[in-house]
Amino acid sequence: MPDRKLIRGATIVTLDPALGDIASGDILVQGSVIEAVGTDLGVTDAELIDGSGFIVVPGFVNTHLHTWQHALRGVCADWTVKDYVRCWRIHLGPAYRPLDMLTGNYVGALDSLNAGTTLIVDYCHNVVTPDHAYAALEGLREAGGRALFGLGYTPVLSHGFAELPSVENPHFPDHASRVAFANRFAAEELPSRDALVTLAIVPQEIEIAEWDDVVAEFRSARELGARITLHANQVLSPQRWHDVDRLHRAGLLDDDILFVHCTFSSDDELRLLAESGASVSVAAETEMQMGMGFPATGRLLEHGVSPSLGVDITSNSSADMFAQMRLALQVGRMLADEAHYRELRMPEDVAFTTRDALEWATINGARAAGLDGIVGTITPGKQADLVMIDGDAFNMLGWNRRSPTEAVVLHAHPGNVDTVLVGGRVVKRHGVLAHVDVLAARRRLEASHKWVNDWAEANGGLIPQPRLELSF
Ligand SMILES: [Zn+2]
Repeated sequence: MPDRKLIRGATIVTLDPALGDIASGDILVQGSVIEAVGTDLGVTDAELIDGSGFIVVPGFVNTHLHTWQHALRGVCADWTVKDYVRCWRIHLGPAYRPLDMLTGNYVGALDSLNAGTTLIVDYCHNVVTPDHAYAALEGLREAGGRALFGLGYTPVLSHGFAELPSVENPHFPDHASRVAFANRFAAEELPSRDALVTLAIVPQEIEIAEWDDVVAEFRSARELGARITLHANQVLSPQRWHDVDRLHRAGLLDDDILFVHCTFSSDDELRLLAESGASVSVAAETEMQMGMGFPATGRLLEHGVSPSLGVDITSNSSADMFAQMRLALQVGRMLADEAHYRELRMPEDVAFTTRDALEWATINGARAAGLDGIVGTITPGKQADLVMIDGDAFNMLGWNRRSPTEAVVLHAHPGNVDTVLVGGRVVKRHGVLAHVDVLAARRRLEASHKWVNDWAEANGGLIPQPRLELSF
């Protein structure tokens, strides 16, 4: 039998404007590609996947994930971002060996696949030696999902925070050696733009780095043709952290940038951002927890920027895009209602719909990753990155057949993700990851977890240093 799969008789949310929702339809997959979508395709020479009772959506896209932190789940659960800075670089980042980077990225990416996320923008900002980068990339590749590997220029914190210890790194004795490594790594490891894992560059955060170094990092990324992703405007400070504005004034703001947060971006910065065509990842859960401002979803849309969604640090959040959709949607609605309340009126309409939220978590994410021509909707010719959600699960009973989007966004959870395809390959089937030894993966993560936690305990413990004052 040729490499053809037919998902038959499913409710399909294509998010393709020309195709819309299909109450009962088929998806034909040829190799890695969606060949046809429609009602009763009449195909008989394909491996059959029964879709009855299932809702099929495009694979979710998580546009911001520090996947490497997966061995430290929950550590940051009650932290602010100040706690994170106080503790992370001192106690935790240095605990990681290359093996821990590999394991964190491997199991973290599997966790995303298990929850229906087929594309992640991995923000790998613990590249303290070249081997850390090679290992982290290997972990992503082994997991089998689609990803942008965001090669990080790990910050030298002493530039921005005199309070924090200087970081001497013999592996990267000067900045030129870091740029040279990025160029070599890109050429040797990630030369193709068509592979499942492709390159992104994570420059240092602008306000804690030497400006000339940041400029060199941007220039190198553009010579490599890599997407650029970086945290921006997530710190409230009248004097500093005008990241978008500073890039604009330097002529560096462009449509190949995926900013993260932008919670404290001024209106002028959002206007500049919209004009440039750059994208933004909203990490609503982390922003609300860690004191990083109000999720910018509504303000972005007001200024003509389509948001995408990110989980951010797995050391507090879960790789659950259902939760991220709900959080971003409901806080966006709440913030939009405030204007009505100030005028002593009740709102007439919700500001955003569940379909908006599903688009943030799929096609908008694909666009932010520069891959909207390849994934993000269920469209013939695109890669078959598909998620089948069990509409017959007990928690889904009673869902409205005419509006599957509502059921997906407001009722479903990762436990309802029955089947996942990445580029036509089945990586989850009948609720179980099908392409890996799950028990072996678990053992690897547990061993890494023990190493990292033991190291941290021996070096001051998993607690922020409360008296360390920070200048923001
Ligand atoms: Zn982040």
